[in-house]
Amino acid sequence: MTLSPPLGLLAEITHRCPLQCPYCSNPLELVARSGELPTETWLDIIDQAAALGILQIHFSGGEPMARSDLAQLIARADQCGLYANLITSGVQLTPETLAPLVAAGLPHVQLSFQDIETAAADTMSGYRGSLEKKLAAARHVTAAGLSLTANFVIQRENCARVPEMIQLGLALGVHRIEIAHVQYHGWSMVNRSRLLPSREQLDAVTAAVEQARAAHAGRLVIDYVIPDYYADYPKACMAGWGRRFINVSPAGNVLPCHAAETITAAPIPNITTASLAEIWNESALFNLYRGTGWMAEPCRSCERRELDWGGCRCQALALTGDAAATDPVCSRSVDRPKIDAALAEAASGDADLVYRRYGGAPSLSAVIARSGATKQSRARDGSGLLRSARNDDKK
Ligand code: SF4
Ligand code: SF4
Repeated sequence: MTLSPPLGLLAEITHRCPLQCPYCSNPLELVARSGELPTETWLDIIDQAAALGILQIHFSGGEPMARSDLAQLIARADQCGLYANLITSGVQLTPETLAPLVAAGLPHVQLSFQDIETAAADTMSGYRGSLEKKLAAARHVTAAGLSLTANFVIQRENCARVPEMIQLGLALGVHRIEIAHVQYHGWSMVNRSRLLPSREQLDAVTAAVEQARAAHAGRLVIDYVIPDYYADYPKACMAGWGRRFINVSPAGNVLPCHAAETITAAPIPNITTASLAEIWNESALFNLYRGTGWMAEPCRSCERRELDWGGCRCQALALTGDAAATDPVCSRSVDRPKIDAALAEAASGDADLVYRRYGGAPSLSAVIARSGATKQSRARDGSGLLRSARNDDKK
């Protein structure tokens, strides 16, 4: 296989985040502020990315606006000819905090929305007043002349509001809308049975997206990401392992995707001990599942193997214990019953939401145990769920 340079670099410059989304796909173990790469190292990574032929850099996290050197990093990306995208929750975005980023050459912002109703948005973000701050942030971005993508994160509680989300995006003057169902990696696995929509809900969202695409064709791009648990075949995760994207974690780990720190079959390379080009071209981790040579049956002889590249390695590991297994989402996988069992569990799932909190995160077994323990006292309305999270904060 001829190896092309990566298309995009996901720069996860911090795991710090003021929100507490229960669907967060960041790893269970977050990097502390003291473990983050310094400014000089990030500037060097940006130089290396441009030299490698990368075209886009996505500043992400956590909340990238939590870093005081963000404008410096954007300016370096602009100088290097990289197209910069800021992926933000927007709650820290004001005219004052945006101005230096615009001056640094930022062309595009991707703003995430948990919901379009105040109480529901508070509940799903674990942050009171988040929606109002995000709406204001969207207006500041468009007033500054930047391109804006609105990312609406879909789970069972907000499926019915997708048509209104699209209307809101139009009213805000966005260039692109993402209707993205939660993907079940990292922390979101803790809340899977509470967030997965039913088949009927999924079909209704799909119909709403198709209707809006037809109504606004040529004026608005709507990207749609389904929960792959309902698909017959897996998605081409990251467009194939080590084929298009490269991810640098807050601590400098260089990964084929942001969940790949769970893979233990090869050492995880770090930018402090090897260059981006060496890691992309030669590291054991990037070559582990690149192409099709690693595949066993049924993938090895499957006609779809260069369409989905065998699906998601991290999902295979999380659900089967074997990162080299066929993605269990696939209807041809012997592990597909695990997905069907998860869907059946979700159909009756009403556990408490367990919030993602930066700092002092409990272990997975602890949060599962606590989720069960608090179930009896849970208020069933959205504000009750938020109250539950706030009570946890006081512990
Ligand atoms: S808590 Fe929410 S806003 Fe923060 S990183 Fe996770 S998903 Fe993003
Ligand atoms: S068998 Fe493998 S390559 Fe074929 S569709 Fe399933 S995951 Fe994809």
